[in-house]
This record gives sequence, C-alpha cells and structure tokens, in this order.
Amino acid sequence: MLSKITEVQSALEVPEEIAGLRMTRQRQEIYRILIEERNHPTANEVFMKAKDRLPNLSLATVYNCLDALVQHGIIRQVNFERESSRYCPNLREHGHFHDAETGVIHDVDFKPGANLTDVLNLPQGAVIEDVEITLRGKISNLQ
Ligand SMILES: [Zn+2]
Repeated sequence: MLSKITEVQSALEVPEEIAGLRMTRQRQEIYRILIEERNHPTANEVFMKAKDRLPNLSLATVYNCLDALVQHGIIRQVNFERESSRYCPNLREHGHFHDAETGVIHDVDFKPGANLTDVLNLPQGAVIEDVEITLRGKISNLQ
C-alpha cells in the first residue's frame, strides 16, 4: 500500500527533464496518464484520456510524445500480435499476461532470483539483452 502512495505522489510531480528529454506540458500529461493508469493503453486510448486535459491536442502529437518517451527509454513500447502498439511505464524487466476474457494486460514480474537460463535451453553462448515475454490465458478464481 505504501508503494502505491509513493507512486501516485511521484506521478503528480513529473520532472522538467527526464533522461535528457525536456518534459513539455504535453509529454508530462502523457507520461502521467501512463503512470496513473498502468493498463498498457494504445496511443488512441492515451489521446482520449489526454484531450480533456490538453484541449488542443492532436493524435499526431500523442504519437510524437510517445515516440520521444520511448526513444529516451522513459517508457516501453509493447506490441501484442497485430494489435496497435501499447505503452508501458514499467522499466523493470517483466513480462505481460494477456487475459483473453477481459483484455486486461498484467505486468508479470520475475520471482526473486529466477533466471531465464534456468528454464530455457538457449543456444550456446547466447546473451540475453532484451526480454519480451507475452503469456496469454485467463484468470480463473479456483480456490
Ligand atoms: Zn508492462
């Protein structure tokens, strides 16, 4: 619970510059939406949310802002099959669980100490530089 509060507070105070990128009002609002929602929205969904706060905003500007944030490593762009790209502010190494029934995409963390090389037969000498894991299924409430 405590970490939740900290996240909300830090989301409200987006710095003027992150990773060398000047955070314009538009970039700040878009970043704030991603931090607040944490539901991996598409650019269009971000636009629908942001246009209440930024009345002159265009979808093209949303794409430009998201691109800039991705280029500077502030957020990640994630692609699920042929869907529109989605955006994730979680920079920890993590996978995604796509709930087929609700459409919700959950962040899935690695268990502490878990190592991909323990469960995957990688080619000899392979060094993992980037991880993209997408799992699909449904969440049942079996007790
Ligand atoms: Zn994510």
